[in-house]
Amino acid sequence: MQKTLCIIKPDAVKKNVQGSIIQMILDNGFKISAMKLIQLSEEQAKKFYEVHKERPFYGELVNFMISGPVIPIALEKDNAVADWRKLIGATDPAEADAGTIRKLFANSKSENAVHGSDSEENGIIETNFFFKPEEFVK
Ligand code: ATP
Ligand code: MG
Repeated sequence: MQKTLCIIKPDAVKKNVQGSIIQMILDNGFKISAMKLIQLSEEQAKKFYEVHKERPFYGELVNFMISGPVIPIALEKDNAVADWRKLIGATDPAEADAGTIRKLFANSKSENAVHGSDSEENGIIETNFFFKPEEFVK
């Protein structure tokens, strides 16, 4: 099965919609193989989003991601990367399809409720960023 990383972002945790998002994950056939509630440090957030460091929104993104607790979740499913991105919807909730997580719960293009890995390779790299081998259940 393919792996992908979900992060329930600070805006969604603050709104208390993390339970609804986890229910949607389960209802859509994903297996949760690791999950935790953490406060990211600035250093961790900068490292996780390093690919975006030249983008104008990098500083804003890092500050948002450390503005409160987040819930990283390792997901497994056939076609997990594409299926998870379909369920979360477009980056900007204004452009997200009806019924997607971002349409339902995101505030804006920056405060957009959840993260999803963008490739199979990054699904593995990003789940390993948050979880040690022994933290994944079989
Ligand atoms: P994610 O990687 O979080 O799943 P994504 O792949 O849809 O989102 P990316 O282009 O990878 O979008 O951007 C990473 C994150 O940076 C976005 O989810 C959003 O929080 C923030 N972001 C992206 N574009 C902008 C922008 N123009 N202004 C502000 N924040 C942005
Ligand atoms: Mg992305």
